[in-house]
Amino acid sequence: MAGTLGGPRVLLRRLREVMAEPVSAQERLDKIVVLIAANMVAEVCSVYVLRVDSTLELYATEGLKREAVHQTVLRQDEGLVGLVASEANPVNLSEAQTHPAFAFRPETGEEIYHSFLGVPILRAGNTLGVLVVQNRARRTYSEEEEEALQTTAMVLAEMIASGELSSIAKPGAEPAIKPRLHLTGSALSEGIALGHVVLHEPRVTIKNVIADDVQKELKRLDEAVEALRADLDLMLERRDVADGGEHRDVLDAYRGFANDAGWTRRLREAVSTGLTAEAGVERVQSDTRARMLRVTDPYLRERLHDLDDLANRLMRQLMGQDHAPPREQLPDNAIVVARAMGPAALLDYDRRKLRGLVLEEGGPTSHVAIVARALGIAAVGEIDNISGLVETGDSIIVDGSTGEMHLRPPGDIEIAYGERVKLRARRQAQYRALRDRPSVTKDGQEVALMINAGLLVDLPHIAETGAGGIGLFRTELQFMIATEMPRISEQLSLYRSVLDAAGDRPVTFRTLDVGGDKILPYMRAEPEENPALGWRAIRLGLDRPGLMRSQIRALLQAAAGRELRVMFPMIATCAEFDEAKGMIERELTALRRRRHKLPDRVEVGAMVEVPSLLFQLDSLLSRVDFLSVGSNDLVQFLFAADRGNKRVADRFDPLSAPVLRALMAIIDRGRAAGKPVALCGELASKPIGALALVALGFRSLSLTPSALGGVKAMLLELDAKKAEALIRPLIENPPQDGTIRERLEQFAAAEGLQL
Ligand code: PEP
Ligand code: MG
Repeated sequence: MAGTLGGPRVLLRRLREVMAEPVSAQERLDKIVVLIAANMVAEVCSVYVLRVDSTLELYATEGLKREAVHQTVLRQDEGLVGLVASEANPVNLSEAQTHPAFAFRPETGEEIYHSFLGVPILRAGNTLGVLVVQNRARRTYSEEEEEALQTTAMVLAEMIASGELSSIAKPGAEPAIKPRLHLTGSALSEGIALGHVVLHEPRVTIKNVIADDVQKELKRLDEAVEALRADLDLMLERRDVADGGEHRDVLDAYRGFANDAGWTRRLREAVSTGLTAEAGVERVQSDTRARMLRVTDPYLRERLHDLDDLANRLMRQLMGQDHAPPREQLPDNAIVVARAMGPAALLDYDRRKLRGLVLEEGGPTSHVAIVARALGIAAVGEIDNISGLVETGDSIIVDGSTGEMHLRPPGDIEIAYGERVKLRARRQAQYRALRDRPSVTKDGQEVALMINAGLLVDLPHIAETGAGGIGLFRTELQFMIATEMPRISEQLSLYRSVLDAAGDRPVTFRTLDVGGDKILPYMRAEPEENPALGWRAIRLGLDRPGLMRSQIRALLQAAAGRELRVMFPMIATCAEFDEAKGMIERELTALRRRRHKLPDRVEVGAMVEVPSLLFQLDSLLSRVDFLSVGSNDLVQFLFAADRGNKRVADRFDPLSAPVLRALMAIIDRGRAAGKPVALCGELASKPIGALALVALGFRSLSLTPSALGGVKAMLLELDAKKAEALIRPLIENPPQDGTIRERLEQFAAAEGLQL
């Protein structure tokens, strides 16, 4: 190799000897920089280490002034070294001093050096430091030299990660191998959990970085790649390609990469420089991860993630670890950390030990978030690169109400959160004590409090909360977490279990509400420009009658001899309701003809989610047996604000006059028509929302199970007539000085209601 003495292999061999010597950490580093400088024919070689305070400290140098060691400290974005660290990318310049990022530190004496090559010291995509070589002459370092320096940086990464340097670090300025982190993502599922990290896909830890015999390592690599390809082919051939939430498209993409000549060439090149096969894979994987942190294009990110997963598989192949460690080995208080996860995979964990979930991807509407809420575990999503930042066993706090996450928290934070957990537990105990109290306001108004559900794991919540029944059973959840379309017998069996669990209490089933953001992995979705306004819910149900017909049949059979309540989502016109109801009637006739036992009674309702219904309420009410307001969708459509988009979802207040007027019209017209009207959106799950709804006249609310206790506690203390007298005039004449929400809060405070 041009410019190097003996090439990278010789260097790696020498480095291995140095790593094995029984010397102090500082002596080892000093020897390493001398070796690298000599091997690369550079006048300077320096190692900067990233510290917990996010600065870069010069830890060793050959060529710069020795007095600068441990004295020169750069900000993470200062100078060329800072540039390498913050971009996690090499910087290669024949004239460094004219570069805009160049920052001169007189104590180092580096003004006489012109050429500069700096590479990040990376581990699992995280920057641990920067390795630099410099020369007086204006020389251009070749691509091979850059590659060789990156390979060498891996050895330093292992050394830093081993914790060896802590012995020579100043207190409070230790290397940032395991920094404390406080990150905020999106709140996926309520609750606070303190526990220890369990990586959903455990990382393989490499023991040997430097190869004894490069040819042997290349052969190991080739064999592992071959085995990986064969594995992927086999999985694609098998019918059950849906293993662990993956499906055909993902595996196809994997196979594409595994057969990609560019990827395998880069792996071979890395190993050729003198690394073991697994270190070569990690080297290429580190680059992929570093790129992943920089790209914002979602498609490209997804592909880089695929590539990262593939490297994991290859690594496991090489290390002979085919599978993740058994789930039984979960610690108590397990907090699972994953890049992404299918909903079924979360259900595989032992519920008694699972406390929380942290994801890199996954917004509030993701399927795994739905399952996390059903399981009642705290969850946060959209935390960049978290699976690369944690280690198995790290202590971690998840706050599912705010979307915050503390990794390796200091003692005072742990104590503060511990107190909040105790407080929550005390509250829950108080709510449990209210479980069997009838939900009646202080002035004697009965308000049915039901729960929203959708999975088998939700059913115990009926008894736990003392709910009056299930006000919304989201049937699509069974479809969303399955890896293939649930058979009619599977649907029947779930619906029967639901009715059995509810006993005498009513259950309102909603027919399939898929499309939009509710995507079925096995159903090819047509790309739509505005999916929330597109081919979803009842629209899809009516256009694909086969699917809805079999669901209706399963519902009718499950409710044989009992009452069945069914409602349709996203109804926008009365004609749609008539058509959907007609399907139920036809199925009833068919079952009757075949002498099936039928439900005793079938009540058919519509969800009010589309604003067009507000202007045809009387005609709709003459057709339905009941209405249920889906306030999540109704509010999103009234304000034209995507409910899943953080930027716009919070701009509008559901407790403002436009929404409250719409709700008032629905409840007033429903009463006039003598038809029951309930509300099953999130609005009912907040005590202040429930207060407004009861004040408007709603007497049936369906809530997230965890919210029921708090809402009930508020209702028991509420004077509904007084609240009604407050809210109606406020809606007629919204206050000029302040908001309706504020007036409701003041009312609650004056009445001693806990919101
Ligand atoms: C709603 O839109 O308020 C509702 C309850 O339905 P979902 O949240 O399932 O869309
Ligand atoms: Mg809805």
